[in-house]
Amino acid sequence: MKKLALFILATTAFGLGCFAQNKGHFSNKSNIAIDYLNNSFPVYDQLQKSIWRKAELGFIEKESSELLQKQLQDNGFKIEAGVAGMPTAFVASYGSGSPVIGILAEYDALPGLSQDTVAYKKPLIEGGSGHGCGHNVFGVGSVAGAIAVKQWLEQTKHSGTIKIFGSPAEEGGGGKVYLVREGNFKGVDVVLDWHPSSGNGVSTDTGTAIQMIDYNFYGKAAHAAGSPDKGRSALDAVESFDYMVNMLREHVPTSSRIHYVITNGGEAPNVVPAYAKVSYYIRSPKRETLKDLTTWINQAAQGAALGTQTTVKSEIISGFYERLYNKTLATLVQDKLEKVGGVIYNEREATFAKEIAKGLNEADTVLVRVQRVEPLKEERVSQGGGSSDVGDVSWTVPTVSFGTAAFIPGSAGHSWQNVAAGGSTIGTKALINAAKVFSLSAIELYSDSKLVEKAKQEFNKRRGSDFHYEPLLGNRAPALDYRVKK
Ligand SMILES: [Zn+2]
Ligand SMILES: [Zn+2]
Repeated sequence: MKKLALFILATTAFGLGCFAQNKGHFSNKSNIAIDYLNNSFPVYDQLQKSIWRKAELGFIEKESSELLQKQLQDNGFKIEAGVAGMPTAFVASYGSGSPVIGILAEYDALPGLSQDTVAYKKPLIEGGSGHGCGHNVFGVGSVAGAIAVKQWLEQTKHSGTIKIFGSPAEEGGGGKVYLVREGNFKGVDVVLDWHPSSGNGVSTDTGTAIQMIDYNFYGKAAHAAGSPDKGRSALDAVESFDYMVNMLREHVPTSSRIHYVITNGGEAPNVVPAYAKVSYYIRSPKRETLKDLTTWINQAAQGAALGTQTTVKSEIISGFYERLYNKTLATLVQDKLEKVGGVIYNEREATFAKEIAKGLNEADTVLVRVQRVEPLKEERVSQGGGSSDVGDVSWTVPTVSFGTAAFIPGSAGHSWQNVAAGGSTIGTKALINAAKVFSLSAIELYSDSKLVEKAKQEFNKRRGSDFHYEPLLGNRAPALDYRVKK
């Protein structure tokens, strides 16, 4: 990094005035929720920063989960903690009767992304974890939205239930898949979801289905120079396997994605490796294609074991569905997003954002891009790209996802720039906007039963009458220690 000035976005430097720009024009009915959020900026600013500082990893995000649960409990929600075999998962509910609206919350961080809230790379803890995907903002925005909805339900005495799903370990652990598999979404009519983003818009991209598999190869150890004929190399098996996969790439649909890392390749060159391990992520926009691809890759692993006289054992670590789009809900959320508007920086935030954007050659457009709301695009089947465990939820309950601008445009996903922006008041502004979108969308769904019915009808039509849910991770238990260093 060249001469980047230091801009610390201190909590205290931003008073109540910093969110006043975005109050918008809302109906009297929805004012209860919007007023609550406009008055709660300092509370949620502090809460998101506490979770940001902890930066706890998947399935061990204990304190982050507890902080969110406490805020919900203090506001009258009934909490069920440790659901679906995951100690850091929870379901919090308020209200009674229908419709039942669910909101998703995530709060896990990423390894190796520790970063201060400054406009240049500066880890807080060398090699430590950080919120590179903004899940600190994600969880708190969802909780703020759910509590605002509760305020409205309580004060209007309207029938309806709000449920918030505390979903651990989105980054690889797939917490939501277990929540779906164990029936936690039964009786939920609509799910509203969001994710911190570098813009404001409704997600129309269906993403990719993913299968995560570890392949363990077992050979025989021997002196690599003295008695190589006695050994059988597990690393040879891994290398042959990877080579075969790299050959088959040419013959699979181009939208597929296959990536791997060798996590164990032996200990010393003079010992024939008796054990080696390679971890694979296999992705495709359609899970039927993904299943065929996975079968082929499994065959390559068997072939590699056969040819090297080793054995192979595979373990499915996780697997997510692609997303099922719902236009009825996308149209509803688009309307609310337009009412709420984009994220408006104060002078200090703008200076910080421009500094970050300068390093990304995006400085000229950054302020315009965070302020505008993108028009609703047509549904788009992905041509590769990322995956999310929201996929499984979207095939279980009609679901919509949207984003608000918590990150500086031009920043890469899972980057230090995202950690810096998400942990500042920029992140808080984005989460308050998201909470407003949740509130306005939920209020309309509570007030218009026909709209809920329309979303459900569309969902049933898209899903097909012969649909049967089979999780891509099978019947395995949550990999609770997948982020624990061994
Ligand atoms: Zn994320
Ligand atoms: Zn992520």
